[in-house]
Amino acid sequence: MASTRLLQKLAKEHGTPLFVVDHEQLRKNYAMFKKLLPRVQAYYAVKANPDPAIIRTLYKAGGSFDVASMPEFLIVYENIKDMPAKQRQDWIWDKIIYANPIKATEALEQLDQYKPLVTYDNYDEIIKIKRHAPHAGLCLRLKVPNTGAMVELSSKFGAAPGEAVDLILAADKAGLVVEGLSFHVGSQTTNFANYVAAINLAANIYKEARDRGYTKMNLLDIGGGFPAPYDATVKPFRELARTINRELDRLFPKNIQILAEPGRFMVATACTAVCKIIGKARRDGKLCYYVNDGVYHTFSGVIFDHCKYSLKAFKKGPTEICSVFGPTCDALDVISMAENLPANLERGDLLYSENIGAYSHASSTWFNGFPPAKVVHINQ
Ligand SMILES: *Cc1c(COP(=O)(O)O)cnc(C)c1O
Repeated sequence: MASTRLLQKLAKEHGTPLFVVDHEQLRKNYAMFKKLLPRVQAYYAVKANPDPAIIRTLYKAGGSFDVASMPEFLIVYENIKDMPAKQRQDWIWDKIIYANPIKATEALEQLDQYKPLVTYDNYDEIIKIKRHAPHAGLCLRLKVPNTGAMVELSSKFGAAPGEAVDLILAADKAGLVVEGLSFHVGSQTTNFANYVAAINLAANIYKEARDRGYTKMNLLDIGGGFPAPYDATVKPFRELARTINRELDRLFPKNIQILAEPGRFMVATACTAVCKIIGKARRDGKLCYYVNDGVYHTFSGVIFDHCKYSLKAFKKGPTEICSVFGPTCDALDVISMAENLPANLERGDLLYSENIGAYSHASSTWFNGFPPAKVVHINQ
């Protein structure tokens, strides 16, 4: 994490709002994931933060990528295609999985030349893939419990367990190859039992598929959802990793390739936002700070990601509970109604927010004419 001195220096040099990406922290997060989940190849979920510099750093560290649209696919492809392949693995899709179960036929047509690995979860998708991307390999996305995840996804995607093997056999009959199974337990999953339930469910589907004569599966994708340590209530990743390793070793033979799609886990702790106080008022007795970044910009996660970000001041002083508002004219543009900040901050003073790398700058808009925060990279 960048020191407070460095953050202030960068803000002075580049202005605000500023979004600071620490590549040393990205490498640390990748290394920790690999060390604690040695059987698992990390496919960074690009939607968390698609910055090309982040993609290159994670690629150099040994990472692969999960994409969900043609533009995301091309950002990754263009940024890694000329880099040396350090860790070639023995399946052809060792660097990218296209993990969107519903793909437009136009996307499939563009994808086909790359012989991609794609996910699916319904019969119509089999017809689309057969017709528009017949060279793709398939991975069946299963519906798994999302209880306790900060962002719930099970109502949108995933084959019900009861129809999973029928969908595998249908793809096989269409002349496609189902390479394996995938699931996503929901983002910021702090209920580790969800991973246990999902891995067990996948193991049962594997077995049922074999019992019914389908033996070509050799891959399990355990998805994303690995929680970022936003606060002390999040149990250590080490504990989750131990649980996952135990279930994988118990239920899946050594020769099965295991993938994961961590997004938040890789980038959340690597980025810090710095913004400036542009106005100050007292309304109904409550101190209100207005800053030059907000929920249409770097703090978009407050809305889309159901995430709370705490703000800190560089300046010290007696604190009180304040509201912090973004710069746009929309009343929705509220970063927080209850931040404990020094009451003596003035126009021009800076605030910063740590652990804001995931689902933040990625969904920043130009609403009301305010551009997204400037991005600076450190320790690249
Ligand atoms: C969003 C998403 C991810 C990444 O989720 P995180 O919670 O950021 O790890 C992984 N896989 C799929 C299919 C997703 O939709």
